[in-house]
Amino acid sequence: MMGSLNPVTSVAAAECKTAMNIILLGAPGSGKGTQAKQLVEKYGFPQVSTGDILRKALADGTDLGSKAKKFMEAGELVPDEVILGIIEERLKQPDCKSGAIFDGFPRTLQQADGLEGLLKRINSHLDLFCISLEVPDDRIVSRLSARRICSGCGTDYNMISNPPPKDHHCLKCGGEIIQRGDDQEDTIRNRLAVYRRQTRPLQEYYSGRGLLRIADGDASPQEIFNKLSRLIDDYLKNS
Ligand code: AMP
Repeated sequence: MMGSLNPVTSVAAAECKTAMNIILLGAPGSGKGTQAKQLVEKYGFPQVSTGDILRKALADGTDLGSKAKKFMEAGELVPDEVILGIIEERLKQPDCKSGAIFDGFPRTLQQADGLEGLLKRINSHLDLFCISLEVPDDRIVSRLSARRICSGCGTDYNMISNPPPKDHHCLKCGGEIIQRGDDQEDTIRNRLAVYRRQTRPLQEYYSGRGLLRIADGDASPQEIFNKLSRLIDDYLKNS
């Protein structure tokens, strides 16, 4: 998934000379997944999305999927030990050697501590940088209620800003386009409450270490991408 590094990546990697792990923090629907996909293209680090890994496990009917199912359907967090097990496996894969873009992980203080431990154990460098995408709750609810995804490749569509084809088949892979079960309004509101209670405290965790930047996520995807790129480039230059 890492693919060949583009020139920007090569310069960045040469300048910072360490693994570079970027954490995208932010409420569900704040645009982490969309941004992560673009950042992968630019910087060459793979996207590590625990939500995507869990949804695939669910679709494949694995043990992991059955462990996660009830939590995901209710918009609650899957237990930390399950998540850390997934991340450990993922970080051991060769494409994560120079770093990763974490999307939807960590989501609790225990996961953040666990990540530090894993990076120390598995990667030789611990170079972390966290960007939090800030979007007002009412915008999140309208974004997520309108969100549709491809059940085949995970491509995002939005009934308002990026409607899917009328036949409900993905433009990229032809897969069926569906609404995620947890994108119903009641579940969205619970996911936001869970975010405030369990994940938002990570802002303090990372700002206390001088590793947090805040970005306005209520702008166009291109504007947000430009902002994130500037933040990451500044970090790489100064690291
Ligand atoms: P996401 O696609 O990131 O919004 O994740 C969808 C659902 O998967 C969440 O509502 C949780 O139930 C579960 N999930 C994903 N990532 C994590 C995580 N890091 N910790 C706990 N649960 C997670």
